[in-house]
Amino acid sequence: MASIFSRIIAGEIPSYKVAEDDRFYAFLDINPLAKGHTLVVPKKEVDYLYDLDDETLAGMILFAKKIAARIRRETGCKKVATVVLGLEVPHAHIHLIPMNDENDVDFHKEKLSLTPEEFNEIAEKLSR
Ligand code: 5GP
Repeated sequence: MASIFSRIIAGEIPSYKVAEDDRFYAFLDINPLAKGHTLVVPKKEVDYLYDLDDETLAGMILFAKKIAARIRRETGCKKVATVVLGLEVPHAHIHLIPMNDENDVDFHKEKLSLTPEEFNEIAEKLSR
């Protein structure tokens, strides 16, 4: 069965899209640690990041780099944390999280509850 992220990429499940090309898709995490928390996913469905072929893995980092620059520009954060967990969804993905302090990337923290309007506004800013 297709992963939830493949279904998002296919448009079967809605998402707040930030960017897309022929190989990768970026969208806002629905349970964000901070405004701008974005997931970068390869369209190719592979569970473990380091099982991706070298070309896809390298391309994914370059794709994430562009999104990270936009997150930094729009949030004014010190740096964008790049985190790979993958314990919940078995489809490789990179978390890009605006960060000013190491506590900003504590996944045990309570997640933000944003309205659709807030998600739309962030996605719109990050898509430029
Ligand atoms: P991980 O697999 O890296 O441990 O966690 C998966 C991440 O994907 C979580 O941060 C979770 O909030 C996010 N996530 C899970 N399902 C969905 C979904 O349907 N839509 C969006 N936008 N994010 C999701």
